[in-house]
Amino acid sequence: MFSYRHAFHAGSHADILKHLTLIHLVEYLQEKPGALTIVDTHAGAGIYSLEDGFAAVSNEADGGIFRLLKFAEECNASGKNLAGGIQNYLDYIRAENPQEQIALYPGSPFILARLLRPQDRLKLFELHPKEIDILRHNINQLKQAKQIDVYAADGFTRLKGLLPPPSRRGLVLIDPSYEDKQDYRYLETAMEEALKRFATGCYAIWYPILTRRESASLPDHMKKIAASHHCSWLHTELRVENTPGERRLQASGMFVFNPPWTLEKNLAEALPTLVKALGQGAGAEYLLKSFEARP
Ligand code: SAM
Repeated sequence: MFSYRHAFHAGSHADILKHLTLIHLVEYLQEKPGALTIVDTHAGAGIYSLEDGFAAVSNEADGGIFRLLKFAEECNASGKNLAGGIQNYLDYIRAENPQEQIALYPGSPFILARLLRPQDRLKLFELHPKEIDILRHNINQLKQAKQIDVYAADGFTRLKGLLPPPSRRGLVLIDPSYEDKQDYRYLETAMEEALKRFATGCYAIWYPILTRRESASLPDHMKKIAASHHCSWLHTELRVENTPGERRLQASGMFVFNPPWTLEKNLAEALPTLVKALGQGAGAEYLLKSFEARP
């Protein structure tokens, strides 16, 4: 427990899929003026240096954000813009980097903080004793700090206490490290409890695609939970590489309960570009499926 530090993975292909999806969800939900409550059950440290510390050791950003930025530059130079919200996502990353050089990668708390309107609230959970201190320090630097609550607590078990949000408009990101195999079970319990209290909320779950059984069966378990609560869902995966025996993460997925209708269209545009930009070899591919529950 607590060996996971997200800085090792900051700006990786998995962060790109997660944060691109997240931005689309928030922007869609903000099309209505009513207050939005956003919960990030597994927040991490908030923002990460890509030039030193853990990120510089793993260099995962090389195959992720730096690769995508290079691809975007080449496209822009030939007069093309990137579709599916990729350009918009890159603008959020650039916004944290006033210098031209990208030295910082914002995690979900910073991306979400930047998206907050005055009426919105952000609730962050983090359990790691070092990460929580860094997160608090980072959040306190933001002009949106007063709209953000940071809890040193278990996001899985505390989520239900925040639901339904006062305005009945809510988005939940569940982004565990899965370092503990029990996280798969905790996720299922958290989703059951959450949907019992707030069945119409939008829930975005990130997961790594690994050879372990729990990871492979996660989407089917989520589909069963969605069916028992009559929820629509969207399931997407991005694989950048398929090299058997390789230990680095080669693919990840998102499962979204009650997705906005625009998400599938947006990802259908973005994913082929991400495969092209980030793919390493013929094994790079994506998956995009959805189901619409009828009332
Ligand atoms: N959401 C972040 C982002 O996109 O930038 C990354 C989060 S990282 C994948 C998962 C984080 O959850 C780690 O910082 C870990 O310490 C923390 N964590 C692990 N178990 C937790 C729990 N039960 N409740 C809250 N945080 C937890």
